[in-house]
Amino acid sequence: MGENCIFCKIISNEIPSKKFFEDETTFAFLDINPASNGHALVIPKKHYETLADVPEEELKQLIVSVKKVAQAILKATKASGFNVLQNNGKVAGQLVNHVHFHVIPRFENDSINFSLMANQEEANELEKTAELIKKEL
Ligand code: 5GP
Ligand code: ZN
Repeated sequence: MGENCIFCKIISNEIPSKKFFEDETTFAFLDINPASNGHALVIPKKHYETLADVPEEELKQLIVSVKKVAQAILKATKASGFNVLQNNGKVAGQLVNHVHFHVIPRFENDSINFSLMANQEEANELEKTAELIKKEL
């Protein structure tokens, strides 16, 4: 259990939540401040801070739960699509330090905007970056 972790407290029922799914290792509930109707969070029951900290087996179960939850939300809300959003680190907008996947159902003209800045980059710079990453794998 993460110290003073809101999501650990939600899992242990210390803090109430609109939980709608759990299995052996994962837990899913509605986001308290939804970006759209049906916006949910899928989390591992064990406390890990970021995606990089989750052991592979648990991560597999987690992503399968994300899929299950997304399919159910699509049917329940009659959404036309969904985004999976996953923030790691403060700089990336992670506010709760218990790894979580946002499942955000999307509706025509819902005015949610996730567009990224499409920067121009030289081909050789891209090549260099790819090489640097390759070395770390
Ligand atoms: P992050 O910015 O860390 O990716 O997202 C954290 C999310 O957790 C936010 O969308 C926020 O609304 C949600 N959240 C924070 N505290 C609570 C809470 O106590 N209950 C629920 N259900 N969601 C929460
Ligand atoms: Zn936690």
